[in-house]
Amino acid sequence: MNEPNLSIIVPGGCNSKCDFCFWKQQKPCDNYYDFLETTLASLPEEFNQISLTGGEPCLSKYLIDILYLIDRKKFKKVILTSNGTGLYKFIFDNDPHNNLKSYIDHINISRHHYNDVINETIFHNTSTIKIPELKKCIKIIHQNKIDVTFNCVLTDNLQSKEDILKYIKFAKSLKVDAISFRKQHGTIEASPQELLFYKGYITVGESSCPVCRTKAQYIDDMLVYWKNSSVEPSTELNELYEAVIHPEGKITLDWEGKIPMTISSPKDTALKLIAEALISIGQQLKNLVDEPTPVVKKVKKPNIDPEYKVDEDDDQFFDFSELKKEKTAKAKVVVDKIKKDKDYRPCYGGGIC
Ligand code: SF4
Repeated sequence: MNEPNLSIIVPGGCNSKCDFCFWKQQKPCDNYYDFLETTLASLPEEFNQISLTGGEPCLSKYLIDILYLIDRKKFKKVILTSNGTGLYKFIFDNDPHNNLKSYIDHINISRHHYNDVINETIFHNTSTIKIPELKKCIKIIHQNKIDVTFNCVLTDNLQSKEDILKYIKFAKSLKVDAISFRKQHGTIEASPQELLFYKGYITVGESSCPVCRTKAQYIDDMLVYWKNSSVEPSTELNELYEAVIHPEGKITLDWEGKIPMTISSPKDTALKLIAEALISIGQQLKNLVDEPTPVVKKVKKPNIDPEYKVDEDDDQFFDFSELKKEKTAKAKVVVDKIKKDKDYRPCYGGGIC
């Protein structure tokens, strides 16, 4: 994977209790900002985009300072994911100069139903953002030239084709740029809802790997992504798929925080290269000592000259007697085995044996 995902779990809480949530609250470590700054600076260049997630990042007192810390020359794209709570305040408190675009390129808003009450039920929270506020937020976000996608986890409340079409109509009325319908259960097979739109709609892209699959379609003039992925892709792939920076001061290859990621500093990398070079030189020297190449001092074309005889002093470069002993010992093992077991035949290679 050329551009692995990088997520920062913004320290703080969440005001919701979604049934499908796997987030666990973590206390930020001492010197959190120093840890974050050093970690971001040490990451290799393949990491060039950041996703800020939570908990609910817009309720976190750390969010603004984290945004200030991100080096925009290195991280070309910054994505903020919010459940909508706190988004209104965050935008209106921080937008006096209309400069959100300097810090954020894209906002994902989690919205799991077109109906406010059902949406609240899914979040188990009555303080989620309501439609009128949502509309105002999206307007300001667009004024900042930032794209908005609705993230919708497919639940039992959104099953039929009619439900999905209503959701799309709702998203269009709020002028969002795209919708991601995300299947639960952590497998890459299409959700039943995706299959309802299998025929009759334009597919504009499809990508997949062993752990995720995304299909992009235009449905009623709305760009819709159907997203399906494993819960912990890094545990199933033998390559760098994603990294997660945890509030408690560690960077791991998984969301559960069990697979630590090691980052080499430039100094470490230089030392490693020097060490590898020294090991290689050492190995070559050892080979020279262990396996002296027999030096053919006088090549006298023995096949052409049947009279050729090795000079007496040739043997000083290679101890043929040792080789002879070794071969004799191996041959003895085979002969002994044949004597003991009549059915035993040594393998001569080159066939099925
Ligand atoms: S809003 Fe996000 S972090 Fe909060 S409970 Fe729901 S899924 Fe979890």
